[in-house]
Amino acid sequence: MTLIRISFLEGEHLSNAIYWFNNDLRLSDNPALSHALCREPVIGFVYCFDPKLFSTGRFLSKSMGAIRYRFLRESIDCLDAQLNLHGQHLNVYYQHPVKLIKQLYQDYKVTRIYVSVHAGYYERKTIGQVQHLIPDIEFIRLDTHTLYKSDELPFPINDLPATFSKFRKLIEQSDLKVAAPMPRPYDFSRPLIEKKEWRAALPDYASSTGQFKGGERAGLVHLTQYFSQNHAQTYKHTRNVLDEWGASTKFSPWLAHGCISPKHVAHLLKQHESRKGANESTYWIYFELLWREYFQWYAHKHSYKLFTFKGIQNSKPLTSFYDERYQRWCQGNTLYPIVNACMKQLNATGYMSNRGRQLVASCFVNELKLDWRYGAAYFEEQLVDYDVASNWGNWQYLAGTGADPRGLRHFNLEKQTEIYDPQKIFINKWKGNDTCLSHDAIDAVGWPLEPPIEELS
Ligand code: FAD
Repeated sequence: MTLIRISFLEGEHLSNAIYWFNNDLRLSDNPALSHALCREPVIGFVYCFDPKLFSTGRFLSKSMGAIRYRFLRESIDCLDAQLNLHGQHLNVYYQHPVKLIKQLYQDYKVTRIYVSVHAGYYERKTIGQVQHLIPDIEFIRLDTHTLYKSDELPFPINDLPATFSKFRKLIEQSDLKVAAPMPRPYDFSRPLIEKKEWRAALPDYASSTGQFKGGERAGLVHLTQYFSQNHAQTYKHTRNVLDEWGASTKFSPWLAHGCISPKHVAHLLKQHESRKGANESTYWIYFELLWREYFQWYAHKHSYKLFTFKGIQNSKPLTSFYDERYQRWCQGNTLYPIVNACMKQLNATGYMSNRGRQLVASCFVNELKLDWRYGAAYFEEQLVDYDVASNWGNWQYLAGTGADPRGLRHFNLEKQTEIYDPQKIFINKWKGNDTCLSHDAIDAVGWPLEPPIEELS
């Protein structure tokens, strides 16, 4: 898409507009932002933390854990610093988004809001609530979070195939090409909202940087470094390794928050292939991006069903909620050393490999007989790369209530340990054996340790 900025006379503008950053915390390859800058001579940039994200929800977890919050704050700071270079700034608010927009409507007569399309049901519901409350406000929504735009797909979203394999075939058989990423905008509209001191109004965050540093800058550095090395050439064979930086791309935190775009990843992947050669491993990175793509459109199509016990299959799992088992799983204190090691890795870093996620989710549902939604909610709090569509879609898939035609996924944890950690290096590193209850101890107290506290439907 080529965008030409309309020139405006000083003082003249179409309306008072804001750009509401959300899952698109970047300037480059951001079609919604470029579109807004072309149309609006005056614009305010906002980001909003709903305080509800920080309180414990229905499934015993918070939506926002400490590690993701730090990553987000770093990403927001990076965005603000980049806007400052263009005479603009970001204002960050800590309040319910509907209230915020009502306030902006009153204070600045905001009538146009530009926002990236979001796959989340509740995020879309918020926009619906604003539209209902203030019909004067027009929302302009553009796809920024996916490889393809919704109207480029070879089917309407409501006809999204029931399985990933069918989806992939349709995409690959069509002539669809990933569009080139858009350049960073250089010409910025004037600020609508005066700069406010917002940092003090937000919850504190620990300053330790950990494995992942938030922000577009850090994301682009990592992306460029990854493709300048040779990891992509062997990705298919290493991607299941439980604990090694170069084994998989580690793009997920930046993709989840929109610090980098999937189109940008696909573009650099193509460049890497032309420099170093294409093979099944380089293809497999695109294949995994397609999984991500599938879950994005899946969340759009199934909306609230992404969060229901029976999922999209409408079949009731034979699981429930047992508090002690759940707590043991969360803390990495189960009978299964590999699960314990993975959970401790997650709690300490906010990250877990894809194989690890599959194993702990399978244990949650099949061994511990727990309601999958509590596990998904725990991941939501802990993961630095939490993405509503990828998380809840994958959990449903593993729990047998989602897009897997084979139903429940049950991994043999002993066999998986033999394959992925034969020397117990990962288990020892993360102390997977340390707090493990022995089988005898479990027998002594009896298992299950207590009756289910609620039967959920
Ligand atoms: P790579 O293996 O290098 O893959 C490249 C990119 O492809 C990833 O960055 C990611 O964007 C995408 N991708 C890979 N596998 C998947 C997949 N199965 N589903 C969707 N996208 C995929 N991913 C998230 O980004 N956020 C989540 O909240 C999330 N929750 C998950 C929950 C469960 C129970 C499971 C089984 C998987 C979940 N995933 C989630 C998918 C996957 O585990 C992570 O994307 C991946 O481990 C991130 O590491 P990476 O960037 O090195 O991945």
